[in-house]
Amino acid sequence: MKTPQKLKGQAAIVTGADSGIGKAVAIALAAAGAKVLINHIGQHDKADKVVDEITKAGGKAFEFHADVSKEDEVKAMFAAIIKKYGSIDILVNNAGLQEDAALVDMTLEQWNKVISINLTGQFLCSREAAREFIKRGVVKKRSTAAGKIICMSSVHEVIPWAGHVNYAASKGGISMMMKTLAQELAPHKIRVVGIAPGAIQTPINKPAWETPAALNKLLELIPYNRIGQPEDIGKLATWLASDDADYITGHTVFIDGGMALYPGFADNG
Ligand code: NAD
Repeated sequence: MKTPQKLKGQAAIVTGADSGIGKAVAIALAAAGAKVLINHIGQHDKADKVVDEITKAGGKAFEFHADVSKEDEVKAMFAAIIKKYGSIDILVNNAGLQEDAALVDMTLEQWNKVISINLTGQFLCSREAAREFIKRGVVKKRSTAAGKIICMSSVHEVIPWAGHVNYAASKGGISMMMKTLAQELAPHKIRVVGIAPGAIQTPINKPAWETPAALNKLLELIPYNRIGQPEDIGKLATWLASDDADYITGHTVFIDGGMALYPGFADNG
């Protein structure tokens, strides 16, 4: 069955879209009719494969190499989508990474790297998107909103994570950035929302699922008893970007199989 074309005619940027969650989100948005810029910082072949997959399915996409933590590269990326598709309607701030270490061993470089890609990168991209959305305003035949910004957070915006202070701080920061932007931009008919995934099977957390023993240990943290798939997030992002979610702004949707339900208390603690 063909996916309903709820994003028909809209243009989207998905950051970090050559792998894992970003790749699945880009494919899902394209299946719903959006034209997608596949952002990446890696080799072109991985991004080219995502573009090929979208194109073969009848969608439209192109790839763009840009480091989301670099202001000039982010500006160049927005200029590229506006040149190619005329404007932008949807930004999915997805790019992110981990550089794990105990606090006492963590270098300033590790702290700064994670904060600048996971948090500052989302600020830089959101700012460019908002500038374009405000300048252009609502285009009724495309969407009831002037623009949508989706911020990829994590259950670690609320669950502390020993040994990952830079990552958890970046995700906590995304939560408050998202809410503040939602408050500031709502009068411009711009919606800003968050997605907080639990454990999703991607390269970022391979050690947590690559052996049966590791996966069983991980499943102890997931009441619904399965690891999430990138496509779970693709479906949610598509819905949040569509007008079906038009009255949602300033909230994070947790998509985690119950990971944030304090599973350790399920047997009375
Ligand atoms: P992944 O490693 O498969 O993908 C991360 C992507 O970000 C890659 O495409 C990578 O190239 C890109 N990236 C990294 N640094 C970049 C930069 N400076 N500029 C542009 N792109 C950059 O991991 P994933 O699991 O797909 O993670 C995607 C997002 O989802 C991240 O923000 C991550 O924190 C979040 N998340 C993942 C999980 C999970 O369980 N997989 C859970 C919660 C949140």
